[in-house]
Amino acid sequence: MSLHLGITGGIGSGKTTVCHIFSALGIPIYYADERARWLMIQDPDLIAGIKALFGAEAYLEDGSLNRQLISTLAFGQPDLLAQLNALVHPAVGKDGLKWQAEQNSPYTLKEAALLYESGSYKTLDKIIVVTAPLEVRIARVMARDQVEREAVEKRIAQQMPEEEKIKRADFLIHNDGEHSLIQQVYEIHRQVLTLPL
Ligand code: ATP
Repeated sequence: MSLHLGITGGIGSGKTTVCHIFSALGIPIYYADERARWLMIQDPDLIAGIKALFGAEAYLEDGSLNRQLISTLAFGQPDLLAQLNALVHPAVGKDGLKWQAEQNSPYTLKEAALLYESGSYKTLDKIIVVTAPLEVRIARVMARDQVEREAVEKRIAQQMPEEEKIKRADFLIHNDGEHSLIQQVYEIHRQVLTLPL
């Protein structure tokens, strides 16, 4: 038996950076967004569903995903995006539960940008939200992805407002460059280890 925690936060808040610290403490991490990309080219049921939704052109000849076609179609049509999410989120949910059952650790962490939006929070015991000031997040993503400000703002606008995530959090991590991330992670780690299973 172990506890299953989720970690989320807006784009550029520093979820992955925080996960690297938990990982250094020996905590197994499930990177849901990365795993979703993998499942979309490996899970036969999911592949069939995506082809049914977008046509066979959703995949290139080498089996990789035709990201350009999918994002052009899905981001222009909210219904289609919702249908895509309705295929991907349950597939990741199932895969995540299987992964959790295989871990041997006092607790595990599932990192996902859309932990609330996907409903995946329902299968988790506690949620950690990473927050950072909006301007800091925008600057970090622009530098990391080499993209324009508008592109980052557009992605932020598609996510649940940060205040809403903060309201729902069991633990908060302030990644504003002023508070020590290592200290905050260690404090949460210490507290989680005292929680009843
Ligand atoms: P996404 O939602 O896009 O996956 P994320 O929340 O996982 O983003 P990270 O990738 O961890 O965010 O961080 C965004 C960028 O900001 C990265 O380049 C990371 O190295 C940098 N970064 C994160 N935290 C800090 C910090 N405290 N100081 C300096 N740079 C940071």
